[in-house]
Amino acid sequence: MHLFHPSIALALSLACATAQAAEPSPQDLLAQARAEQPHYLDTLKSLVSIDTGTGTEAGLAQVGAELVKRLKALGAQVQTQAATPSVGDNIVATFKGNGSKDFLLMVHYDTVFGPGTAARRPFRIDAQRAFGPGVADAKGGVAMILHALKLLNDQQFKGYRNLTVLFNPDEEMGSAGSKQLIAELARRHDYVFSYEPPDQDAVTVATNGINRLRLEVKGRAAHAGSAPEQGRNALIELANQLLQLNELGDPAKGTTVNWTLAKAGEKANIIPALATAEADMRYADLSETERVQTDAQRIVKRQRVADTQVSVVLEKGRPPLAKNAASNQLAATASDLYNKIDLSLIPIAMRFGTDAGYAYVPDSAKPAVLETLGVVGAGLHGDDEYIELSSIAPRLYLTVALIRQLAR
Ligand SMILES: [Zn+2]
Repeated sequence: MHLFHPSIALALSLACATAQAAEPSPQDLLAQARAEQPHYLDTLKSLVSIDTGTGTEAGLAQVGAELVKRLKALGAQVQTQAATPSVGDNIVATFKGNGSKDFLLMVHYDTVFGPGTAARRPFRIDAQRAFGPGVADAKGGVAMILHALKLLNDQQFKGYRNLTVLFNPDEEMGSAGSKQLIAELARRHDYVFSYEPPDQDAVTVATNGINRLRLEVKGRAAHAGSAPEQGRNALIELANQLLQLNELGDPAKGTTVNWTLAKAGEKANIIPALATAEADMRYADLSETERVQTDAQRIVKRQRVADTQVSVVLEKGRPPLAKNAASNQLAATASDLYNKIDLSLIPIAMRFGTDAGYAYVPDSAKPAVLETLGVVGAGLHGDDEYIELSSIAPRLYLTVALIRQLAR
């Protein structure tokens, strides 16, 4: 098929699809994805041009309405529900097919950028890259889903049973108003694809979970000049605890615990009665949450300042997409499909936490979850965020080819 001009291949493949007969070749699918690229970029520009920082009602409403309109135009049944306690709507679109497999494609449409950012540094394209707030994270992924659906529509492909799309408005603040929905939807699907951006041509088979530890020391206030011995210095005890608790991580298991915030005291002449600190915990091994909790409780009993009360609490955040066979199998399928267009794709584990963690069900083969199916990009959350234009067509091809292959 390399001998054909792409437009001839495209015409042929469309003719085949209309007849619901021969399967288009990988080269056909890639040619169609290439032809879709300008439309993908138009969509991306319109999405990036409206700021949707988490919690900003107007922007999220405007982009949400646009997404609903586009999903309906693609033939979906669309439902929206307020993502309470977050601002904005969860948007769920359903396409009914005639196959036996269920697919969930999901990504967030909020960004970390407040109103006015897009006006200050609007969407722009140079020879190799496109720039703008949220262009990769994750509006590039939103557009990836929309245009993969467009391609499947153009091919009149209906080989799935249910193809569900979820766009959520609150990932950048922890997905408080969408995590439950993600978990529920994921359990009803065979495959979950999440569209965060990879920083290279890769798919992600494991992500880290995130927890927060809160340490509190209560002491007793006293005048630091005239009666310091009557006080119980919470700050000194906090310092003692931080040194002890700094070893909670486990490099062998990929667990990190880093103390990042601390606060104590009101005035320099008062022995502080209260001191607090917070730690960021990242982990990949599901048993680590309990292990860290248990170790922390044991360690804080070793106190240095008498008559102080020390407590440590672990708050669970996003769970990990733990290493698992189903995700590895999906990555292998994705890699095979990439090889067919003479490109290579590597499976990676990443240290970020993402919504894929809410989709993953421990000790279950279903759903199989794969992360970073979005467009390749970098500089996330920064002024120089960009996507690689060369990755658009292969990545569109990947989603389309994966769905076609797995639906068989
Ligand atoms: Zn993101």
